Parts: sequence; C-alpha cells; structure tokens
Amino acid sequence: MTRLRQIPSRFGSAPVRLGNAPRDERERSAQRIVRTPWRAWYKTARWKDLRWSVLEDARFTCAYCGRLEGNTFKLVADHKIPHRGDPALFWDRGNLQCLCKECHDRVKQAEERNGST
Ligand SMILES: [Zn+2]
Repeated sequence: MTRLRQIPSRFGSAPVRLGNAPRDERERSAQRIVRTPWRAWYKTARWKDLRWSVLEDARFTCAYCGRLEGNTFKLVADHKIPHRGDPALFWDRGNLQCLCKECHDRVKQAEERNGST
C-alpha cells in the first residue's frame, strides 16, 4: 500500500496580491460614494415609485411652462428645495414637482448662477 502523501505546496513563497492593483480607482469610486451617497438613491425602486407618483399627480404637465409632455423621459421630478444630500428633503414628497427637462435645466442653471445654497 502506498501512503498518499502530498508534497507540500509552496503557498506563501509568492504572496498573492489580490485586490491591490486597481487601488487608486477603487479609492476614487469609494470617495465618490462617500461624498455623494445620494446618487445611489436615484437608482432605488423607492425613488422610481416616488418620481412616478410626482409625474402622475402632475398629469405629466410641467409646473413651470404648463406643457403636457407625453415622453416621461423628458420629465423630471425636481426638488424645489435642493436636497444636497439631505435625505429628509430628498424623500419629501411635498418638496417635489414635475418639470419638463428644458425648464428643469434652466432652473438648475439659474440656481448655480445665483450660488444659492
Ligand atoms: Zn417646462
């Protein structure tokens, strides 16, 4: 009978460096998440439901120009008070209005010009 005997493998002689390589990229994206965690909120089912209810309640009509927009891709559930990462403002149904994309972009640009906080 031969005894089964395994030759010791040479683990340890060449340390595995898993996860070390893309360090910079991983840190960058980790920092992005830390700084703007709310970006992920837009991807949640909760937000999609909320957005839809805003558009539906507004009957797909822009609160600014009054245009009825049939293409919901061109409608935005806009935060009247910029949430800037504040979950209370972000999820506040009363803080949301339906805007067409053109009005939304115009409003956002104006806000940035005014430097409102
Ligand atoms: Zn509009």
